[in-house]
Amino acid sequence: MALTIRPLNSGYIPTKPLEYWYHFSCKKYIEKQGITNENSQLPDFTFLIEGGEKLVLVDTGMAWTERADKYHHGPSNQRPGIDDIESRLAQVGYKPTDVDVILFTHLHWDHVFYVEKFTNARLICNETEWEYAHNPIPLHYKSYEIPIIAKDGDVIVAPFDQPGVKERFEFVKGECEILPGISVYESPGHCPGHMTVVVETEEGPFFCVGDSVFVMGNIDVPEDMAAELHYDISPPGRYVDIVAAWNTIRDTVRRCKEAGVDPHKHLMLAHDGILAAAVEKYEATHNNQLPVIGKKDTDFDFETYRHAVEEK
Ligand SMILES: [Zn+2]
Repeated sequence: MALTIRPLNSGYIPTKPLEYWYHFSCKKYIEKQGITNENSQLPDFTFLIEGGEKLVLVDTGMAWTERADKYHHGPSNQRPGIDDIESRLAQVGYKPTDVDVILFTHLHWDHVFYVEKFTNARLICNETEWEYAHNPIPLHYKSYEIPIIAKDGDVIVAPFDQPGVKERFEFVKGECEILPGISVYESPGHCPGHMTVVVETEEGPFFCVGDSVFVMGNIDVPEDMAAELHYDISPPGRYVDIVAAWNTIRDTVRRCKEAGVDPHKHLMLAHDGILAAAVEKYEATHNNQLPVIGKKDTDFDFETYRHAVEEK
């Protein structure tokens, strides 16, 4: 059986487009597209890879609303019993204990919550990310839930550092195949040890890019921006290394082109608002089912999602 991908949205996080989505140098050009700096709710996707010998999950998503609001960005929204990863898995017929492998694109808080529920899974991340998550600069303490951020007598332990979880982590470096049809490559810039998961399907490869492409607009360039600034992408606003972030986006687009697939259709972003609108529309019209991506006869394609956004 061929591999397929199911998008599981773990909730919504507010972000300021002109601070998070795009680098400040893009402001003038991006504003012309009608994008303002007003807080915009972005989804927080994890991706379930089915059809192989092993059940594989890419990331585990964000915390419950109260926790996310108190320590990260509010007002966020994780609907209890609907959006949390356990409920999302139940929606497609699984329990956390059914998952065999979890590949973490990176260890930011909104990609790692509830990992302790996956007691049977191999937990895999990039070696550099693990090192940085345990020794970040203060700017990133919250992103990795360093214990020092605790307030009001709370005790904070990063999800990946919980006893029974921490010891189980396995580390990868560079580019490698994890399972038949599932490989990873390094995609740094958003954070030091980010990795992208490539899934080979009957529709070609799909790239679970995590936050390395923050919004789909990062891979495009408005004409006036290209003419005046010579940019070949629209760089993101949130990064630790803009040179690496830029080269990662270029590299990811190049990989799509080499594989003969359209990056607009084959990049699975963790925070893709277009995908979220489409998935919600699909759920509403398909009896609360979630779409399957990477299958030839799927009734969910890119055109469906474009329309979902236009009608929203
Ligand atoms: Zn992140």
